[in-house]
Amino acid sequence: MSAGTVPDRRLELAGRLEAVRERINAACADAGRDPGEVTLVVVTKFFPASDVLLLHDLGVRAIGENKDQEAGPKVAQVREALPPGSDLEVHFVGRLQSNKARHVAGYADVVHSLDRRKLLDGLDAGAFDRGRPLGLLIQVSLDGDTSRGGALPEEVPDLGAAVAQRAGLVLKGVMAVAPLGADPDVAFASLRRVATDLQAVHPTADWVSAGMSGDLEAAVRHGATHLRVGTAILGSRPSLL
Ligand SMILES: *Cc1c(COP(=O)(O)O)cnc(C)c1O
Repeated sequence: MSAGTVPDRRLELAGRLEAVRERINAACADAGRDPGEVTLVVVTKFFPASDVLLLHDLGVRAIGENKDQEAGPKVAQVREALPPGSDLEVHFVGRLQSNKARHVAGYADVVHSLDRRKLLDGLDAGAFDRGRPLGLLIQVSLDGDTSRGGALPEEVPDLGAAVAQRAGLVLKGVMAVAPLGADPDVAFASLRRVATDLQAVHPTADWVSAGMSGDLEAAVRHGATHLRVGTAILGSRPSLL
């Protein structure tokens, strides 16, 4: 990156971040919610460590990544560049392969995409390697199609019970992506019902991770505590497929 581009990128990120914060504040005002209840997780996948550092400097304290191969080295680079003791929470939001679970748990603070028991051995082992508990959200599929990840709502109680048995893992709540073409208000209302049922059994599970660049207002209306926003802040990514 040439020296001249850094201030430009900083300004661009600052402007878009401010616009997203304004959207969140407006959505909270409409929903009668306190913006302090809503955490912005900036999804930095496909963008370099230099962007993460600029975002941190602009006050971002939670980033999201979705691929181990990309996230592992990037997070290491970011942690090395930040002054010791800097707070930056790393959220892993992507589909997780069981052979990557232990590695991801070595650098992520929270994994949003738990959708099967098979991941638990690796996640628990990774939490022990690192010597601190790992937060987990159960990803819920809201349209019965689990091919893009997510457990069915009826599988959530068993998964929650399995997490609760692991000393290294803390159940934090649920996550969902609104199904393609679906009304996000309908999707996030059903996610909230799953969240409420889970929290009744597991009081620590009070997070609802829902809402992205296109549907964060609907997520705020339905009780989201964590919004995962990429494009609206970083710009468009190269196409995934
Ligand atoms: C990429 C991604 C996001 C961010 O989506 P945008 O539309 O770019 O805001 C949120 N959640 C997950 C699981 C993602 O993979």
